[in-house]
Amino acid sequence: MRMDMETDKNRQPFNRRQFLKAALQGAAAVSVGGLVAAAASRSAGAGQIWQINPFKCIQCGNCRVNCVLKESAVKAVHDFTMCGYCDLCTGFFHPEPNDLNTGAENQLCPSGALVRKYTQEDPYFEYTIDETICTGCGKCVKGCTSFGNGSLYLQVRHDRCKHCNECLIAARCPAGAFIRVPADKPYVVKHLGEGAIVGEEAR
Ligand code: SF4
Ligand code: SF4
Ligand code: SF4
Repeated sequence: MRMDMETDKNRQPFNRRQFLKAALQGAAAVSVGGLVAAAASRSAGAGQIWQINPFKCIQCGNCRVNCVLKESAVKAVHDFTMCGYCDLCTGFFHPEPNDLNTGAENQLCPSGALVRKYTQEDPYFEYTIDETICTGCGKCVKGCTSFGNGSLYLQVRHDRCKHCNECLIAARCPAGAFIRVPADKPYVVKHLGEGAIVGEEAR
């Protein structure tokens, strides 16, 4: 199955994929910019706040259960610049799906929070996250990271986070993936690379 997944990814014509990415990149950029601006306005003067380094996260599941909030402040996010817009998305589908459709039995996400949408450019599909039902379990991230491009990853969403002085998830993170970042630059944009993480400070 792994071979099939990689074959599917590699089969996509480069020029068409790049065209589609360029078309969607504007929307993605607006989305990321909106997140940063919103968090900055809420956190002005707050100094350093918690974020996840996606290059260290091993998707252990602790983010779902260890946040002090009833519903974790950690959610999956999607870096569209990295995404392959795959038909057989390994973040969306079980390793051996019955069929490539949105039947619940085919999906990795336990809550149906990852939304698959046809882009009108065969065979490309866009995947977005419904944060109102995403639990931050990381299952989609593990699938995408293991077999895909790694464009799905976990982030602390600062419109939800209480900015605890000592983040309980960070204290229990087995990978040392939690970092402190400046409140006015609170998100990691993965396609910029690990060296481009804004405001990282060793815990
Ligand atoms: S606790 Fe750490 S390793 Fe586990 S999912 Fe959260 S950030 Fe990733
Ligand atoms: S698999 Fe988990 S982290 Fe991914 S969208 Fe679904 S609930 Fe969120
Ligand atoms: S700082 Fe507090 S609210 Fe924010 S993710 Fe950590 S435990 Fe949850």
